Amino acid sequence: MAKRQFKAESKRLLDLMIHSIYTHKEIFLRELISNASDAIDKIYYQALTDENLSFNKDDYFIKISVDKATRTLTVSDTGIGMTDEELADNLGVIAQSGSLKFKSDIEKAEDYDIIGQFGVGFYSAFMVASKVTVTTKALGSDKAFKWVSTGAEGYTITEAEKDTIGTDIEIIVKENSEDENYDEFLDTYRLQMIVKKYSDFIRYPIKMDMTKSVPIEGKDGEYDEIIEEKTVNSMVPIWRKNKSELKDEDYEAFYTEKHYGFDKPARHMHIKAEGATTRYTAILYIPSSTPFDYYTKDFEKGLELYANGVMIMKKCADLLPDYFAFVQGMVDSEDLSLNISREMLQHDRQLKVIAKNIKSKIKSELEKMLADDREAYEGFFKTFGRQLKYGVYDGYGMNKDDLQNLLLFHSSTEDKPATLAEYVSRMKEDQKYIYYASGESVEKIKLLPQTERVADTGYEILYFTEDVDEFAISMLNEFEGKQFRNVSSGDLGIDEPEEKEKNQEEQEADQKIFDAMQKLLGDKVSKVKASNRLKNTAVCLSTEGGLSIEMEKVLASMPTGQEAKAERVLEINTGHEVYEAIKKAQTSDEEKFALYTQLLYNQAVLMEGLSVDNPVEFSQDICKLIK
Ligand code: ADP
Ligand code: MG
Repeated sequence: MAKRQFKAESKRLLDLMIHSIYTHKEIFLRELISNASDAIDKIYYQALTDENLSFNKDDYFIKISVDKATRTLTVSDTGIGMTDEELADNLGVIAQSGSLKFKSDIEKAEDYDIIGQFGVGFYSAFMVASKVTVTTKALGSDKAFKWVSTGAEGYTITEAEKDTIGTDIEIIVKENSEDENYDEFLDTYRLQMIVKKYSDFIRYPIKMDMTKSVPIEGKDGEYDEIIEEKTVNSMVPIWRKNKSELKDEDYEAFYTEKHYGFDKPARHMHIKAEGATTRYTAILYIPSSTPFDYYTKDFEKGLELYANGVMIMKKCADLLPDYFAFVQGMVDSEDLSLNISREMLQHDRQLKVIAKNIKSKIKSELEKMLADDREAYEGFFKTFGRQLKYGVYDGYGMNKDDLQNLLLFHSSTEDKPATLAEYVSRMKEDQKYIYYASGESVEKIKLLPQTERVADTGYEILYFTEDVDEFAISMLNEFEGKQFRNVSSGDLGIDEPEEKEKNQEEQEADQKIFDAMQKLLGDKVSKVKASNRLKNTAVCLSTEGGLSIEMEKVLASMPTGQEAKAERVLEINTGHEVYEAIKKAQTSDEEKFALYTQLLYNQAVLMEGLSVDNPVEFSQDICKLIK
């Protein structure tokens, strides 16, 4: 019989697992129990939906047994079992290992729950096992099979004897080494503690043979050791318990056991909805960090769905709107029919009602977090704010009412994140617009000359540092009746101070200079004009129309490479001494005037964080100036 190899990536991950980067070896038991429970869920679900099968709850359990003499620990279940094909598929490949990118991540962070992150639960057995034997018989099959492996070298599958349907996972526990104690995994009391700690709420009994001392009748003070089969878990699923009975740690343990994330959740919600239209229970989590694949197409949103205690779907996407895709957790409802297919589920009215309800619960939880725990909310927003902004932009802004109050942007006057409501409440009496400025970072925006005028007026400016920001705002259009205005857009809605007004003659003279500059610059700019937003800087670029330069950059960086160009305007600070030099050059030295024009334009380009079209020419121009 040929030995089969693990798939290459699996092999490497297995290596990592065995030469354990993982400090809590005991969690292997949690993994095996959770697989056993899933397997019973599956057979239970089949029985409920198949008239030819019956399910007698007492027949379904998980049993943990120990034989110290042979160093054997066995986890048996009466679940659905596996065919030989399933054995090879499920245990021969580490399904979600994805790219090997994670390897470096793992080596950095010892505490990461690698099992949770990559769905490699079964293999954790090799942290404590020198050999693993899986004997299994699938529902509807008359043959049983045995999978045997001693680790990374591979595995074999052969036919085997087994009377009942289900799976036995037999582990030969490693010998103690100098710095590792494996004997504890053969100690029934220790095992019982591990079960209690991680798997207490598993809905099926987890049985163990425990030794118990009983007084011998008639013989005072003498005891007999008897062996008694005991159910060691409480079997009440956590979501059925009362909130008052549960501590934060319980919710955190459930999060880990369910592999909802590999971090510690930032917040949990335990919802018991008992309305006339919906009855459901849910435990939802807001993670504290993004899953490694969150902003990729591999990320699958969704909540676990249970129908009256039986899991019917691992990731029910219809329960979450995209903009809350980061939420993890489960929903159990008595009102859902078990006989429902996935396709039908999509159209299920009940599910839609639950989804709507969940959406508003998440929204109010986030609003509550924003109100009660600003620091935590700001942390949350750093991690998932981008998602909320996409939500505002998506579908032409159809969800903006749900999301606009959850947005934060960095405020110029407060130098910390502000909500739109806070901004509006601080607006000056004569202030027409909500001003914003875009750039790569807060530090860079602070240096933008375009902000000078608005800032000088004492108006607050919101700093947009993410590519999605301006797009999201373009969908919002206004907030509490106030429109948004980019500080580099044409009309700032700020009244000109009287003394700056120039007479007609002066204006015409300026215009002549601008026209001459525009001619020299060609189609690089659509206009050259006097600026009313600059104070200390000589020139800047601004835009006309709906598209800003930041938006142009974003569009250009997209895979589809959209060629949208912002309409650029070169603005000149006519109060700046440089302008005097330009004026002089225009009348006396044509060459110098052309040089100045190019230099000023390129300066404005650089200040926008763009690159100049011709750097060689630019540097030659500077040399000309120095000579
Ligand atoms: P996951 O549980 O995240 O799918 P595991 O590595 O824990 O990943 O298990 C891999 C697969 O092996 C499971 O999805 C299941 O199909 C199968 N499996 C593992 N243990 C059992 C079991 N006791 N009974 C039936 N199938 C099992
Ligand atoms: Mg598993």
